[in-house]
This record gives sequence, C-alpha cells and structure tokens, in this order.
Amino acid sequence: MDWQKYSCHGCGDCCRDFTVQLRKRDVQKLESQGWAERIGEDVTQEFRGQIYLKRRQDGSCIFLREDGLCRVHAEHGFSEKPVACQVFPFNLAPGENSLRVGVNFLCRSVQRNVGAGLLDHRKDLRRFADVIPELNRPAPEAPLARGIDPADEQETDAVIESLDGWLQSEDFSMATRLDGLAFVIQSLGDAKLENVRGSRFVELVEMLVGVLPEELALLPVQEPSRRQSSLLRQAVFTRTEDPRIESKHGRFRTSIDQLIRSRKMRRGRGFTPFLTSELPQDVDFRRIDGVAPFTESPDCEQISELFLRYARATLIGRRTWGSAYYGWSLIDGLQAMVLNLACAVWVSNLCSAADDRPFCRLEDVQRGIGRVDRHVGRAPWLGTSVERLRQGYLRIDDGLRRIIIRGW
Ligand code: SF4
Repeated sequence: MDWQKYSCHGCGDCCRDFTVQLRKRDVQKLESQGWAERIGEDVTQEFRGQIYLKRRQDGSCIFLREDGLCRVHAEHGFSEKPVACQVFPFNLAPGENSLRVGVNFLCRSVQRNVGAGLLDHRKDLRRFADVIPELNRPAPEAPLARGIDPADEQETDAVIESLDGWLQSEDFSMATRLDGLAFVIQSLGDAKLENVRGSRFVELVEMLVGVLPEELALLPVQEPSRRQSSLLRQAVFTRTEDPRIESKHGRFRTSIDQLIRSRKMRRGRGFTPFLTSELPQDVDFRRIDGVAPFTESPDCEQISELFLRYARATLIGRRTWGSAYYGWSLIDGLQAMVLNLACAVWVSNLCSAADDRPFCRLEDVQRGIGRVDRHVGRAPWLGTSVERLRQGYLRIDDGLRRIIIRGW
C-alpha cells in the first residue's frame, strides 16, 4: 500500500479531537513523570470504568501546547507518550500469522496523502508490536459470513483483489465503481455461502465482478427510499456521536438527550440536531439533500481520488472485519465499509449545506471522511447487533447500492 502516504506534520488535529483511552502502563508512566504535581491537577479521568487522558473544555488534550505539539513528547520523548498517541493514525490488529495495518483518515496527512509511503513505516510498526502485547497474540480469522467457518486466505484475498481491481478500473465513473462495489457486496450478503467455499467462492467473486459492467447496465439503481434515507441518517448519527467524558450530566440525562437527537435524525425533517462539536448543527435537511452531486464540484477530481484512496485503504488494510472491527465476519464487514462510505458522503453534504455551498468542496469531503473514519473500529456501539440489524435492512431492496451512489 505504498500509494498511501503519511508522515506526521504536527498539525495537532488528533490531539484536539480524540478521547485517548489509557492502558495501565500508560497511567504508570504519566504518574512517574509527575504531571499532577507540576500542573496542579489530575491528568487522567475515569469514565464508565475506563481511564482516559483528561481533556480541556474545548476537547483538546491536556498536554497539547500552544504551538500544537505534545508536552509529554517534548519533555520525555515519543516513546513515553501513551501508546494510543504513538500509534495514531495507524490501525493495528493481529491476524493469524501477521499484523493488519490500516490508517485512519481523520489524520490530515493521510487525507492529503503527504509524507513517506506506508512501507517506509515498517520499523515503527514492528516497534509498536513490541509495546502492545495483544498484537503478538494470533487472532482467529473472521468468519466468511455470520455463523459459518472462518474465511481462509484464498477467499479473503480473492475478495480484496477482485474488489480492489474493480475500484481501480478507470473505464468507469466513480459512481459506477462504487455502485459495482455495493452490488457485489450485497450479492455476497444474499448468497448462502456455507456450501460455496474455497475455489468455488473465489469463482463466485470473480464471476460477480466480471459481469458488473453488463449487470449494472441492466439493473439501474434508484434513489434511496424514505426508509433507506432514514436508516442512513441514523447510521450517520452513530458514526458521529461523541460522548463527552468530561460531561457532568448523568447517564440517564445523556441517554434521553441522545434519544431525542437520534429521533430527529431518523425523521429528517426541519433542522439537524447537535451531532458533535466538530460538525455544524441546525442545518436544514432539505438543503443537505439538495447539495449537487460531486461531479458538479470544481474539486471533483480530487474528491474522487480521496474517496478511491479511502475505500482502497480500508479494504486492503482489512479494517472493517475480524480483529480490526469487533470480530465481524468478512461479509458483514464489507457491508459496514459501504455504509461508512455512504455516511461520509452525507456528512460532506452537511458541511457544504452549512456553508451555503451548492456543491461540496474538497475540504467538506475531507471533513466528512475524517469524521466517520474517526469512529471506525473504535466506537464500541458500532459493533453492536443494532448496527448489524441496520445493515441487514439496508441490504434489502438494493439499499446498499442506493445509498452509496447518493451524492455522486
Ligand atoms: S492529525 Fe496526523 S499529521 Fe496531524 S498531528 Fe495527528 S498524526 Fe500528525
């Protein structure tokens, strides 16, 4: 994956945005560095049984300096920072015999594709494996589909290579490529795969991808139905929701507030509720739906390049199934990938509508993808059966195809 580049340029975005969960070893290190005495307050905070780095009122890390650098890094060195801070923007997950490496598109350098190729980071990645013991414990491969045996290497490789090859086929527009991606994933989700294993499964995937140009022409995709649009907005809600660890409100009040905002998203009438402080609120839903397709944006070429890179990096980095994604099966995880891409489009349109632009600019899409990817594989509520149920409903009646090409 050397076409994806990254080097930290010290923008500090991740330090303003993430809630950093600490390991026992991180807490011990911070204690031995004597911060509480020097700063005059605790630097960690407990939330629902876990320990986190404390954040300031504006959400930034307590260690973020005015020049955008980390105080722990500056005074004690990179390896003395909490492990999560050292590893970002890499997403690391153990495989059966190897380490799975993805990158998080919240990172500005990853979005802009600047820095060293990912292969140049091999040394750092090996070092991370030394400090995170669970990366060295082999993790079982993900089931091929829910309730059936794990996918073997041949099956997983066939899916990745065939879909990646399709995504790169320059003879087709980005809308067609994404439509084809959803078509194949939806078809695999509908298939009874128990008896279609090994080379038969590989043949099935290759056949589905091979006939895409003819099939898509015969089965033109419709606009999403009202129910599908509503499910998509609810999925956006869960992918942008950001519980504040410093909130003084109790669980009950927080849950009621969440319920009201989620209902507003489901209905999609009037104005958008508060989602997270990083995104606009009170935007007319009709304006969001009225944002022109990406093809009408002067930044269309860069937007397409960013989406393509995001989709490919997610797929090749195996970020949405197995140990990287709540232990989900390969097929469920591919559906989650489609849904995440569709949510990123919706959030991009939200940003554009909030700024009264008739079409998205590249920065809207960077925000959209960054916001959604921030949660991928991290937010525990994305791994629940409710999420799986939502995907199941969306697969019905061509839903995944209908929502993914919305916006193109
Ligand atoms: S967002 Fe990326 S480039 Fe910016 S400080 Fe964090 S890791 Fe570095």
